[in-house]
Amino acid sequence: MKVRMDLLNAAHDFTVIGGGPAGATTALCLARSGWSVALHLSNPPAQTPPGETLPPEINPVLRELGLFENFLGTEPLAAPGIVSAWGHGEALESDFIGNLHGTGWHVDRTRFDAMLVAEASAAGVELIRGNSWKPGGVAVGTIVDASGANGIRLAGSNGREVDDAMVAIVLRMELQGEGRLDLRTLIETTPGGWWYSSAVPGGTAVGMFFTSPEIYRDEGIVVGEQLAVAPLTNRRMAGAKLRGSQVVRASSSLRDRIVGENWVAVGDSASTYDPLSGRGIFKALRHARLAAAALDQHKRGRSGALEEYAESVRADFAHYRAQRHLHYAMEDRWPDAPFWRARRYPMPSAVVRPGPRVSA
Ligand SMILES: Cc1cc2nc3c(=O)[nH]c(=O)nc-3n(C[C@H](O)[C@H](O)[C@H](O)COP(=O)(O)OP(=O)(O)OC[C@H]3O[C@@H](n4cnc5c(N)ncnc54)[C@H](O)[C@@H]3O)c2cc1C
Repeated sequence: MKVRMDLLNAAHDFTVIGGGPAGATTALCLARSGWSVALHLSNPPAQTPPGETLPPEINPVLRELGLFENFLGTEPLAAPGIVSAWGHGEALESDFIGNLHGTGWHVDRTRFDAMLVAEASAAGVELIRGNSWKPGGVAVGTIVDASGANGIRLAGSNGREVDDAMVAIVLRMELQGEGRLDLRTLIETTPGGWWYSSAVPGGTAVGMFFTSPEIYRDEGIVVGEQLAVAPLTNRRMAGAKLRGSQVVRASSSLRDRIVGENWVAVGDSASTYDPLSGRGIFKALRHARLAAAALDQHKRGRSGALEEYAESVRADFAHYRAQRHLHYAMEDRWPDAPFWRARRYPMPSAVVRPGPRVSA
């Protein structure tokens, strides 16, 4: 009850729900524009994987937000590039050496999110901790739904267009031997799905096997069997000490409505990207800035600002989805395997498949 009274007294312009990258950044930008903001933080979700990788394109975004130094303070690991065995058994390497924006990063999500929330607080955002906001709960001003992939059922928003739904078996590990030293992200396909593995700050690593919920539910996944058919991942994980595991959902989806009467959806609440893209957090920050700018203009009386924001989210999703389908179409070695049969998207005839050039 105390939280509710605090809120009622606060007379905020905005109620932001969710302290992940999208919510914290939207709240930060709104507060910097002079608005009064309450940010609701629930306890950390079980869904959040231990470590994630950010693309080099995140660097200018963090600099423009004035967050780059504090980001470095979270002690991310430089991610020099990606090794991919997708569509062939060889390792194809794309390094970030020539990237205009510099290196990518492996981040500890707990630290990364805490850094963003601390910045929002320093900008004047009121933090409402340990509060899982529910529809009908106290909300002062316009609601920003940044509650993640499930979103909150708000008036006029009934569902999502699901491009794909997968599950990920997430393994937290301590790697041994050569695997410990390799900071590149490794992606490798198997007939039943695909592996992702990367370093996590603090000396650990994460391995994730992505497959379809039907395969997971009906046939089960034996991790050892999936490793046996993924030689590069198997070699990296050889002798690893398992520190924990979980199963999480990973979808590619677009919310049916991005803005409604007195609310907007930001981040995964508006659209989710396949982790293969490695762009979920970049997208969360990009859309948070667009949403905050649109909300600022809307409050100052410019009509159409919110719909323009929604259109940007939809346009980004259309572009991402085309790229995603193209990428899945490039794995054509197992056309009859259920996982790949369900993801056999048409490939434009003009596309030339790249050949392998570097071995891991
Ligand atoms: C297996 C997997 C691997 C991934 N790997 C990567 C990667 O390597 N790189 C990358 O960029 N992206 C990756 N992603 C995507 C990335 O995790 C998301 O895109 C990103 O977290 C979205 O940020 P967000 O702020 O929109 O949502 P979230 O990070 O989900 O934050 C939402 C927050 O809202 C809170 N919340 C929820 N409901 C309520 C409520 N009712 N009241 C108050 N608070 C609430 C939650 O506790 C959470 O803190 C991955 C996703 C998955 C599933």
